Amino acid sequence: MGKPTGFMEYPRRKTPWRDPVDRALDYYEIYTPAEEEQLKKQGARCMNCGVPFCESDHGCPIDNLIPEWNDLVYKGKWKEAYERLTKTNNFPEFTGRVCPAPCEGACVLGINEPAVTIKDIENSIIDRAFEEGWVKEQQPAESTGKKIAVIGSGPAGLTAADQLNKAGHSVTVFEREDRIGGLLVYGIPNMKLSKSLLNRRVKLLASQGIEFKTNCNIGVNISTDEIKKAFDAVLIATGSTIARDLSIPGRESSNIHFAMDFLTQNTKSLLDSSLSDGNYIDAKDKDVIVIGGGDTGTDCIATAIRHGCKNMVNMEIMSKPPKRRGLDNPWPLWPNILRTDYGHEESEKRFGSDPRRFSLMSKEFTSKDGLVTGLKTVEIEWVQEKNGKMTMKEIASTEKTWNADLVLLALGFIGPEQKILNDFGVSIDDIGNIDSAYGKFTTNVDGVFSAGDARRGQSLVVWAMNEGRGAALAIDRYLQGASRLSAPMIKLGSLRD
Ligand SMILES: Cc1cc2nc3c(=O)[nH]c(=O)nc-3n(C[C@H](O)[C@H](O)[C@H](O)COP(=O)(O)OP(=O)(O)OC[C@H]3O[C@@H](n4cnc5c(N)ncnc54)[C@H](O)[C@@H]3O)c2cc1C
Ligand code: SF4
Repeated sequence: MGKPTGFMEYPRRKTPWRDPVDRALDYYEIYTPAEEEQLKKQGARCMNCGVPFCESDHGCPIDNLIPEWNDLVYKGKWKEAYERLTKTNNFPEFTGRVCPAPCEGACVLGINEPAVTIKDIENSIIDRAFEEGWVKEQQPAESTGKKIAVIGSGPAGLTAADQLNKAGHSVTVFEREDRIGGLLVYGIPNMKLSKSLLNRRVKLLASQGIEFKTNCNIGVNISTDEIKKAFDAVLIATGSTIARDLSIPGRESSNIHFAMDFLTQNTKSLLDSSLSDGNYIDAKDKDVIVIGGGDTGTDCIATAIRHGCKNMVNMEIMSKPPKRRGLDNPWPLWPNILRTDYGHEESEKRFGSDPRRFSLMSKEFTSKDGLVTGLKTVEIEWVQEKNGKMTMKEIASTEKTWNADLVLLALGFIGPEQKILNDFGVSIDDIGNIDSAYGKFTTNVDGVFSAGDARRGQSLVVWAMNEGRGAALAIDRYLQGASRLSAPMIKLGSLRD
């Protein structure tokens, strides 16, 4: 274990982000380089608990061997730490940057002290591995002669492709966009995950034998029959892409956009032309309202701030979370507490207050000459019914109209697009996701598997990677009868079938 008394000697110290005023002037990553001595101290705080809850059902979804690499970092054995990390994690440079770190919520130290900075350590191990040249192209030892189509190049598809390629299969990844990465490229903005890191990884995967085909919309410009004929197995990893809308009066007004249109166009224009082509929804000098919180809402706030918006308000229907865990939210559950993310911090610095307004229900958009001019809201309270269900009640005389000339809807996603599923003949479950059991990843169609948000619904990068590894194992077994691939343990909380 790290240092037996480390947790008593050293406080939690996170590697700081760049200054919020400076970083909001550009699209470079928000992170600063970590200091080795600080990381060693954080590694020293890890107690190598008898039961490492950071790896449990409530902890890391991909079973990262956290206490082991914490100890190796404490001892300065960085290369061994890298080797240990990549036993379970195909792309630590993605999770090290964008994972919300459920591991830290479940860290045993978190019972009475702030948790070890696990995510910082993970990120530093992989960044160092790339700097030192330890991350090398690895060709599969043998070829099975089996061909697999992976449809969708988000974290689920990329992880599965990496695993299946390692098992010696010939893997082709089909992506309908012009760039590989799914939401890693056109969802999460550059300041949170640099696209140069994504490209570096995709190049490495291609050099190891994975074939990538962009601008291939399966079910539209290549039929599912062609795919079924040409491949021995198919993985559908098409994500959860149907955005939830807000059907209130005035919705038809111009300048009300889905968050993903705003974010995708911005990143595409940034990568194509450093925004000089003007092919994006511009928030400059606009009163912007972002409806909906979560990562998507935060990314919209941060992007609009970089455009130079005039004002920013972020509406949230839920009530303001507490600063500390409630009694109904004990350790090691994910802490439902108020978190200030990078976009909130930047907005507060730019405009002098936190942009979030909680417990507000949107009632109607106002407009003039077809252009949105504002949003009418009413305050609500959440009340627990006798059956335990929370319902919302409007509070009388709390109507308010907010100015807006750009509104971004970040209300989440309701499921995967259905056409490709219908074409393959794949069944869906009662909420519109692919009907495919967690842990098995099979569908009702022989040889067709599924993983990621298309199967589990809108989730996280690390869960998409969990499912990508699990689906690769299932496909390898289907094709070969047995498999040497490793996959995360079944997480009981994800078993809904
Ligand atoms: C704006 C935003 C920010 C987020 N930020 C975070 C974060 O900070 N941390 C975190 O952990 N999670 C975050 N998430 C969630 C996370 O990105 C997703 O859970 C994850 O990307 C899902 O991975 P996936 O591989 O299942 O699907 P996706 O990443 O959605 O990839 C699916 C891919 O399939 C392609 N596709 C769809 N249909 C077809 C077809 N017919 N033919 C070919 N290709 C097709 C799509 O174009 C897409 O590229 C965020 C989500 C959003 C929207
Ligand atoms: S992938 Fe996420 S949960 Fe797992 S160790 Fe990294 S930060 Fe923690």
